Amino acid sequence: MSIERIYLFDTTLRDGQQTPGVDFSVEDKIAIAAMLDEFGLDYVEGGYPGANPTDTAFFAKKRTTRASFVAFGMTKRAGVSASNDPGLTQLLQARSDAVCLVAKTWDYHVEVALGCTNDENLDSIRESVEAVAAAGKQPMVDCEHFFDGYKANPAYALACAKAAYEAGARWVVLCDTNGGTQPAEIRDIVQAVIAAGVPGSALGIHAHNDTGQAVANSLAAVEAGVRQIQGTLNGIGERCGNANLVTIIPTLCLKETYASRFETAIDTDKLVELTRLSHAFDELLNRSPDHQAPYVGASAFATKAGIHASALLKDPRTYEHVVPDSVGNFRKVMVSDQGGKANFINALKRRGIEVDRQDPRLDKLIAIVKEREASGYAYEGADASFELLARRTLGTVPDFFAVESFRVMVERRFDSHGRLKTVSEAVVKMVIDGKTVMSVAEGDGPVNALDLALRKDIGKFQAEIADLELADYKVRILNGGTEAITRVLIESTDDTGVRWWTVGVSENIIDASFQALMDSVVYKLMKNRQLAGGIAAE
Ligand SMILES: [Zn+2]
Repeated sequence: MSIERIYLFDTTLRDGQQTPGVDFSVEDKIAIAAMLDEFGLDYVEGGYPGANPTDTAFFAKKRTTRASFVAFGMTKRAGVSASNDPGLTQLLQARSDAVCLVAKTWDYHVEVALGCTNDENLDSIRESVEAVAAAGKQPMVDCEHFFDGYKANPAYALACAKAAYEAGARWVVLCDTNGGTQPAEIRDIVQAVIAAGVPGSALGIHAHNDTGQAVANSLAAVEAGVRQIQGTLNGIGERCGNANLVTIIPTLCLKETYASRFETAIDTDKLVELTRLSHAFDELLNRSPDHQAPYVGASAFATKAGIHASALLKDPRTYEHVVPDSVGNFRKVMVSDQGGKANFINALKRRGIEVDRQDPRLDKLIAIVKEREASGYAYEGADASFELLARRTLGTVPDFFAVESFRVMVERRFDSHGRLKTVSEAVVKMVIDGKTVMSVAEGDGPVNALDLALRKDIGKFQAEIADLELADYKVRILNGGTEAITRVLIESTDDTGVRWWTVGVSENIIDASFQALMDSVVYKLMKNRQLAGGIAAE
């Protein structure tokens, strides 16, 4: 059986931009296009040149070197020729390699939204595709509402797809714009399109995730014959999102049922960068990665200690559907109070910590973990704090610096203009090499002020933590016993792209935050010296 090529089309910068809360600047778009290009996607769609200043500026230059750079826009209006349509003219002037035209294929939308006849719409599709080809660019057509349109009027939806193909569109992309179509329907309708004369080698699928099946629908379309998949990074997109390329790509590459029949531009060398790509994109969106994301989530290959963990360590294949390294992720066996001695030894070993079964310090560590988990700590979500606790108990954490005291003030008052203002200020006093240092900082809220003061001056270590960044901060109020206690989880990262989690627990939120912040800084210093963070799959 010959291997067939599946083309990957990214629409993060166009359809992904529809995500609530996402609004890319030109600089963001340039950075994301470079990430996608570098990763190796076939097509990078950039937006609507001419429709808004950001996209017009973005299309002033070609922004990819390997991938085809795609501009998106409407087919020409009815009643004017392609060359007299200002929208289409601007679209053709953009510095793109290809143009994706969006066309109405549901007769109801043709009438209501375009206000033209069905035949006029077919003419618009043909003439616009021809105009793109005449401009020396690769034409493709997104058939909007194709599946719903097919259900309402199959003959007309097919006529639109055929008009696009026969006019010279390289790709005719079938869109499930409302996202409600089911995999079996996708399969049947794609087969009908192929039977009507548009070959699968010219068909693409654009699925939305409104029933949680954008990935399944994309794969069903591939099974039925389409050879181009459109999607976005991490599945961003309006409403419930678009098909997630970060899930689809490893599925095509690693699952035998696809890998034995298809290939993509992403080879195994590139695939190991997938987790990093996904997290770097979240970083750019300023949001924390989804821990449960398939393949790339922090929990994707995590197992709680217990019977699974011991079997997992004996033979990882028994509990993993793919090798975590293949997508640049790693195996995580979490410690918790359910864990027995063997699990602790294994958890420590994975962090490069050797300890003898008979070592009394091991019993002490187990006792501390159990006691702390009972009081609200959650080490399974705070790997770095667990590693520090273990190394401290075993006596291998250097005394980088000591915090003698800290003080946080929150003041609510009227400023000189008579406006009400809340000011947070923190003072941290610490000892480094026998010298006392005092730092003061103001921040947006008490925790931020404390963080700034703590990291403002740690003497000779200052330059080392310059790239330390707090990626996320989570607070939970736990109702244990008579009083409420607060658990703070902090996610940190640095220029190496590694992420680590630390935890603090106290009756006082500032104190809990301080513990987690301190652990993060100390872990970073340890990691810089290769004294920690050597977590690796065995
Ligand atoms: Zn869409």
